[in-house]
Amino acid sequence: MRYFIGNWKMFGVPNSINILKKINSFYSKDKNRNKYRVIVTPPYTLIQAYSAYFKGKKITIGAQNCYQKDGFSSDTAAVSPYMIKSVGAEYTLVGHSDNRSEGETDFMLRNKVSLALKNNLTVVYCIGESKSEKKNKRTFSVLKRQLKKVLDKKIKKNKIIVAYEPVWSIGSGKIPTSDDLKKTTLYIKKILRGIFKGKSPAVLYGGSVNGENSALFKKIKEIDGFLIGGASKSSKKFIDIIKNYYR
Ligand code: PEP
Repeated sequence: MRYFIGNWKMFGVPNSINILKKINSFYSKDKNRNKYRVIVTPPYTLIQAYSAYFKGKKITIGAQNCYQKDGFSSDTAAVSPYMIKSVGAEYTLVGHSDNRSEGETDFMLRNKVSLALKNNLTVVYCIGESKSEKKNKRTFSVLKRQLKKVLDKKIKKNKIIVAYEPVWSIGSGKIPTSDDLKKTTLYIKKILRGIFKGKSPAVLYGGSVNGENSALFKKIKEIDGFLIGGASKSSKKFIDIIKNYYR
């Protein structure tokens, strides 16, 4: 199974659902539709309406983050995994570099992952090295740390997806070489097999994926799909990624 996950970030108002309606109509008729899943993570403000609309349809809705406490609390502006699940989300991203850069710690991320799983959300756990870490040849040690400090074998493996997003690639138009990406994906899967004592969860790539480069990635069979930011805000661009991947 492949995954095409669209991360809208700070984008969207109720009417923006028209973008997803177009993607859903392509997806419903696509001859390759049984080979992949489409998940979109709009901002919190749209999760309830979009989940209700797409219930029983092809697209699945998720959240972009969740708070590290569950249920209700006195933390202003926080949204718990329980609250996200209650409005119909089935997935949540955790550890996106935008949020890590605002101070998310490993301890917070561990709580987010375990509470999201407790609420039966599938977690898309984001990892990735920064530009300077790459330059200093620390990519593998950074990824290993991000995986081992947050995931462990008690976690429901079938409810975890890992998204490898090099920070220097997000929104920059730059992508890793095929060779680097293959090596890194294999390395991530090796670490995950060690953590889970068995088969690795799905590992996605994210960072400047678009309709022009998605075909390049299909040669790397180890990549189980994509986390797509900028290009997920346009139905045409998002559909082109899927079309060109399967061409
Ligand atoms: C992202 O923010 O997760 C992302 C991959 O963004 P972009 O596709 O725009 O690089």
